[in-house]
Amino acid sequence: MAAQQWVYAFTEGDGKDKKLLGGKGANLCEMTQIGLNVPPGFVITTQACLDYLAHAERQLPEGLPDEIRTHIRSLEQQTGKVFGGADNPLLVSVRSGSAMSMPGMMDTILNLGLNDDTLSGLIQQTGNERFGWDAYRRFIQLFGHVALGIADSHFDEHFDAIKRQAGVKADIGLDAEHLEEICRLFLEVVEEQTGKPFPRDPYQQLELAVKAVFNSWRGKRAVDYRREFKITPEMANGTAVNVVTMVFGNMGNDCATGVGFTRDPGTGENVMFGEYLVNAQGEDVVAGIRTPKPVSEMADEMPEMYRQLVELRNKLESHYREVQDFEYTIEKGTLYCLQTRNGKMNAAARVRTSVEMANEGLLSREEALLRVEPDMLEQLLHPRLDPEHKSTPVATGLPASPGAAAGKAVFDADRAELLGRAGQKVILVREETKPEDIHGFFASEGILTSRGGKTSHAAVVARGMGKPCVAGAEGIVVNVKARMAAVGETTFLEGDTLTIDGTTGNVYIGEIATVDPEFSDNLKTLLAWSDAIARLQVMANADTPAAAQKAVDYGAQGIGLCRTERMFNAVERLPVVVEMILADTLEERRDALDKLLPMQRGDFKEIFRVMSPRPVTVRLLDPPMHEFLPTEAQLLEELEHLQKLHVNMQGIGELVGSLRLLRPGARHTDMPAPFDVLNADLVAEAITKKRQMLNKVRVLYEVNPMLGHRGVRLGITYPEIYRMQIQAVLEAAAELQREGIDVIPEIMVPQVISPEELKIVKQYTEEVQQQVERHYDVSLNYRFGTMMETVRSTLRAERIAGYADFFSFGTNDLTQAAFSFSREDAENKFLPQYIARGILRDNPFEALDYNGVLKLMNIAVKDGRKVRPDLKVGICGEHGGHPASIRHCHHIGLSYVSCSSPRVPVARLAAAQAMLTEDEYQ
Ligand code: PEP
Ligand code: MG
Repeated sequence: MAAQQWVYAFTEGDGKDKKLLGGKGANLCEMTQIGLNVPPGFVITTQACLDYLAHAERQLPEGLPDEIRTHIRSLEQQTGKVFGGADNPLLVSVRSGSAMSMPGMMDTILNLGLNDDTLSGLIQQTGNERFGWDAYRRFIQLFGHVALGIADSHFDEHFDAIKRQAGVKADIGLDAEHLEEICRLFLEVVEEQTGKPFPRDPYQQLELAVKAVFNSWRGKRAVDYRREFKITPEMANGTAVNVVTMVFGNMGNDCATGVGFTRDPGTGENVMFGEYLVNAQGEDVVAGIRTPKPVSEMADEMPEMYRQLVELRNKLESHYREVQDFEYTIEKGTLYCLQTRNGKMNAAARVRTSVEMANEGLLSREEALLRVEPDMLEQLLHPRLDPEHKSTPVATGLPASPGAAAGKAVFDADRAELLGRAGQKVILVREETKPEDIHGFFASEGILTSRGGKTSHAAVVARGMGKPCVAGAEGIVVNVKARMAAVGETTFLEGDTLTIDGTTGNVYIGEIATVDPEFSDNLKTLLAWSDAIARLQVMANADTPAAAQKAVDYGAQGIGLCRTERMFNAVERLPVVVEMILADTLEERRDALDKLLPMQRGDFKEIFRVMSPRPVTVRLLDPPMHEFLPTEAQLLEELEHLQKLHVNMQGIGELVGSLRLLRPGARHTDMPAPFDVLNADLVAEAITKKRQMLNKVRVLYEVNPMLGHRGVRLGITYPEIYRMQIQAVLEAAAELQREGIDVIPEIMVPQVISPEELKIVKQYTEEVQQQVERHYDVSLNYRFGTMMETVRSTLRAERIAGYADFFSFGTNDLTQAAFSFSREDAENKFLPQYIARGILRDNPFEALDYNGVLKLMNIAVKDGRKVRPDLKVGICGEHGGHPASIRHCHHIGLSYVSCSSPRVPVARLAAAQAMLTEDEYQ
């Protein structure tokens, strides 16, 4: 068997094999092979990383060190430089890169190969002493930190001290002597911290660096990131290591380094976007240590380089047919492309670029639709600052990630995480952020930094997460130790509320109201393309006229679930509902229902009017009755309080009465005073009512209410309740019909387990229909159907379909029933552990369970359609707005999905993608 190949030169690696070479490595190979100017280098495969991590003794895989030597020799030949050579030394960078982009989550080392000998060679060769020492100090710190595990603070302390001594703010102000002194101190730091001298042999350096990069795959940062972004081993397993010949952007003023996007990742506009720094090394731009210049300035400062950069941008985009995020270095007038990857963008930019790239002919419409993650669209529904606000910003930074957010200022990521977990809204305020702050990002509403550009770590990460970010607000002086920040005369402390606007870069003290965003034309276009392709219709779950209007605005084709009990909960309705529940006789209950009827009819009319001519599915009452009553504990407490009050009032009444008797001419009949009697009587009456309620609560008590007297079981045992609701629906439809408004009500029965139940409710419906038609002199057009949310209903679908025009899967309850997991408790109790330990891959209340629930649904669809081939079948559980679940729904042939209004755009796009990727479904 041929020995495994662990290393590929950029000239030979397969640019499509990201799994083996990592995204960065594959792209470096591809760019080299399409003739872009990439410094020579090679990739050590992800397979080598996995092999290394699999062995406890942490040895590089057999054969790898030899392959590395062979490839280094090849680099020496290509560049004419020598690794470890004192005259013309070859220096390399060692960069991580897995199949999925994880910006900043793993380690990178630059200038590897430097030691005292090669340094003098570098200085001689470049004739630039300052440059040499600067490269060396960067290398010692980076290598010391990444490969030897020395905390940056040990180095920073010395660096800051020398800057102070020299009286300079930025490193660019330091001269060669300062930097030499820094190197001397740094080498001492390494010896002190590790007990060994700094490793001088470049091959030893390389081996340690490769191991450090491999280990960083298992580092906390990377593991947290993969967990948060659900990156599974199938998507990316292990990191590759890219060893690349160093080129320098910091050899003088004809050198520069920069990062760019082929289009603006904040807005999606078709303009080259990016920043650069003259006489600097790549990390300076990303780390936000110096604030870089916008790339447009290069057109004046280095016109020829700018022309080449535009050419590079055009080549990259037309080759990859995707917005690219690329890094480059200009070394003494030569432009090198150091990496490229698909650009991360916020939702607005992704939508705009998709539509524009399709219109430009760079992509097909189908490709454009597949380019947008459906979940991202929810970001577009994020609030922005109320345009009417009158607040003046205290500072302005760069608009690094759009959207507005308000929250309490916190000055470190740990505190942000703590408060965020406790449910507080926080804004993470930092001088600059680093990859280790990632948990603070997850917990915060938005990010504010006082240093760094639009491509700084803070900006890139916030954009990826769709969180607002203002970067480089230089007017703000952050004092983490004192937990405060100053902006001119103003200061704000940790805990003070801030508002940031990532669209303008403005920062405000205090909270500013926000308004909902509008749909952009690009989004409308993209969703119209989606609707033209999708087979699934998208409905909304909405219970009020306002929610119905939102559903229409978001493009819902109807309401798939209107939960009537939400209407019962309205403040003015609850007392009538309680009256209905407390009723001891049918007469009393009918009285209460008579009061409820016009209220429900009014609700339905408004909703139908908004939705006309789209269908509206009204679900009859579902929750157990006691949900409308207080709990036993609450009632007992209230009773105790009322009883005490009653005793006291009687006492006061007597007291007032005796005082009155003391008045001259008073008679005994004056006592007790009518006022006191009235109050005491009212309290007594309240006590009686509460006692009645308590008795009812005790009667209605169920050990397992979710499996109890609810849904259609209520309709069977209290037919008058369902009849009233059916009457309200049909009367609302009849009244609108007489106004000339088209309505298609759908009456839906919850919790059905048997065809008999449906038959009974259908019979009520037909009786009520006849009465209403007679009374209004109309002929009603409505549909009658059922929720499928019990396991038994899915297995009895064939018979049930005999009584139903439609089925709607209530996958919240169906999941609960299929798993025997309480939908109220599982997510807080054991599910997180089940997922962390791999017992379940996903939370089944979020992602439709492929192996269980979906099978039940499939049986029901097939059996139902045997009886009624035209049976309309949908889903209205939460899964109806979840893209992967929507794909399953498409596959089993559902007619529609229904989800909450803000998920409607997500579902529309997901439905189109399900259609487009139908052939790949497994
Ligand atoms: C369901 O069970 O999926 C459903 C939509 O109904 P509810 O969530 O109201 O029980
Ligand atoms: Mg349900």
